[in-house]
Amino acid sequence: MAEVLVYVDHVDGAVRKPTLELLTLARRIGEPVAVALGAGAENTAAALAEHGAVKVLTHDASEYADYLVVPKVEALQAAVEVVSPAAVLVPSSAEGKEIAARLALRIGSGIITDAVDLEAGDEGPVATQSVFAASFTTKSRVSKGVPVITVKPNSAAVEAAPAAGAVEALAVTFSEKATGTKVTGRTPRESTGRPELTEAAIVVSGGRGVNGAENFAIIEALADSLGAAVGASRAAVDAGWYPHTNQVGQTGKSVSPQLYIANGISGAIQHRAGMQTSKTIVAVNKDSEAPIFDLVDYGVVGDLFDVVPQLTEEINTRKG
Ligand SMILES: Cc1cc2nc3c(=O)[nH]c(=O)nc-3n(C[C@H](O)[C@H](O)[C@H](O)COP(=O)(O)OP(=O)(O)OC[C@H]3O[C@@H](n4cnc5c(N)ncnc54)[C@H](O)[C@@H]3O)c2cc1C
Repeated sequence: MAEVLVYVDHVDGAVRKPTLELLTLARRIGEPVAVALGAGAENTAAALAEHGAVKVLTHDASEYADYLVVPKVEALQAAVEVVSPAAVLVPSSAEGKEIAARLALRIGSGIITDAVDLEAGDEGPVATQSVFAASFTTKSRVSKGVPVITVKPNSAAVEAAPAAGAVEALAVTFSEKATGTKVTGRTPRESTGRPELTEAAIVVSGGRGVNGAENFAIIEALADSLGAAVGASRAAVDAGWYPHTNQVGQTGKSVSPQLYIANGISGAIQHRAGMQTSKTIVAVNKDSEAPIFDLVDYGVVGDLFDVVPQLTEEINTRKG
C-alpha cells in the first residue's frame, strides 16, 4: 500500500488534534508515515502510533526553532525523497500552508489548500474544498507530481487505529536558504485557557447584538460551560468589544467546528464565509428574519440576554 506523509504539528512532543485528524484521512488513501520535527519530536511517536502511523520519521535541530519555516520545508522535502509518498498532508494553519506551498514548489507538485475532506480516487486523492465564501463545494485532484494537500482542522474525526509507529531518524542537510530568516524574539500569547479558535470542536460567537465589551462575559460563560473557543463578528471586533484575533469570517479566521453557536449575529455573507462549513449551526437572534436563520440547524428567536444565560445554566446543571 502506498505511504502517505503526514506533517506533525506538535508542541514539545504533544501532538495537536488537527494532526490526529490528518491520520484518519491519510488512512483512507494509504499507510500514514508521520514526520515530526524539532524539540520533543520523538515523544510524538506513541500518540501517532495509537492513531495509525506505521512509521514516525523524526529530526531535531536548533534551526527549527531559530529560523522561520524553511528548515521544516527542507526536512519534509527530505522525507518525500526517502518515502516517495502517494501524498503529503499538512494541517491548514498559517504555518502549515506556507510549508506546504514552499514544498510543492520545490518538488514540482500541485497543491490543494484548505481541504475539508479527502477520499481515495483512481488517479490519486480527491480533496473537497468549500470556496467562494462557502457558496460552492468543489472536488479536485492534483494532476502533477506528489499531491500536497493542506486540511482544515475538524475535517475528520480522531480515530484510534493502533499501528507500529516505528521511530526512524530522518537525515536532513540544510541548505543556505534554510537560515535566511532568523527568529529574533518570541512572546507567548496570554492564555485564556480556552481552545484555539480554528481548532476548537465548539465555537461560541457574539456579534453586534452582544452590545458591549462587558457583555461578552455572557458569551464566554457559555463557551466555558461547553469547553469552547470564543469567536466574534467583525462588527463586535470593530467596536472594540473583542480582540481582532477572535474575528470569524472572510477577513478573520475560518472555523469548521462540530458546533457553532452564533449569538446576536445577523449572518452576513462575509461572516458566513468563515463558519458555514461548521457541522451543526445554532443561532440566537431576536429578529426572526435574520439571514443567519437560513443557515442554521437549530434557531432560537429570542433575546440573547435571556436565552444565553439560561442555556449556560442548563448545561452546567446537566454536567453536575
Ligand atoms: C470586505 C468585507 C469583509 C468583511 N469581513 C467580515 C468578517 O470576516 N467577519 C464578519 O463577521 N463580518 C465581516 N464583514 C462585515 C459584515 O458585512 C457584517 O457587517 C458583520 O458581519 C455584521 O456583524 P453582526 O452580525 O454582528 O452585526 P449586525 O449585522 O448588526 O447584526 C446584529 C444582529 O444581532 C441581533 N440582535 C441585536 N440585539 C440582540 C439581542 N439582544 N438578542 C439577540 N439578537 C440580537 C440583530 O437582530 C441582528 O441580526 C465584512 C465586510 C466587508 C465589506
